[in-house]
Amino acid sequence: MRHHCTFHDCFFLNKFLKNQTFADLFGDCPEVSAGWRAGRCWRLSACGCHSNDLFLPMPWVFAFGALLRLWWLRMVVVLRYGGNDMLKGSCLCGAVQYELDGELGPMVMCHCQRCRKANGAAYAVNAPINSAEFRWVSGETALAEFESSPGVLRVFCQRCASPLISRRVSQPELFRLRLGTLDTPIDARPTAHIFVGSKAEWDEIHDDLPQYTERP
Ligand SMILES: [Zn+2]
Ligand SMILES: [Zn+2]
Repeated sequence: MRHHCTFHDCFFLNKFLKNQTFADLFGDCPEVSAGWRAGRCWRLSACGCHSNDLFLPMPWVFAFGALLRLWWLRMVVVLRYGGNDMLKGSCLCGAVQYELDGELGPMVMCHCQRCRKANGAAYAVNAPINSAEFRWVSGETALAEFESSPGVLRVFCQRCASPLISRRVSQPELFRLRLGTLDTPIDARPTAHIFVGSKAEWDEIHDDLPQYTERP
């Protein structure tokens, strides 16, 4: 009895399509059984009863298929998001998640009174970003906006009060990201202190970065 086994007529396909078992197909051949159990691929030239049978190494076929699918998935991610450059961030409670698929503008430490109050801190660290490259991933319903000066809206999480971005009605293409909410590590560093003219009197600056009374 001979079994011709090719890619389209292998043990697994016979098993699944025709409901045949290993024993139905090769039960009479001890060498095939041993080879199959070992997961090896060979042409059984030494086997008297199946001398022309080709056994595909099914575990390796499945492994190759899985690698191919992973590679394809990576290509889809790279094409959609541009590789590993995407920045992710979130608010304190985690309800709001965002992604930035673009560059950060110059990071500045803003000592203005509005930033101080909004952050409860000596200063805020902000960077301009392209609003088209920014998107809310989750928690958009938890967002609220406060108009801190005419036409300037500060966007924050209503649940935990984390400041996330600010935006100007007159400049819809630009957001100012609050960098303290980033979760992705970045190489960029602050470039300047702005609104130093209105910084808190107890706030002492101990670096050599340029300082501007208001904006540069
Ligand atoms: Zn939150
Ligand atoms: Zn400010």
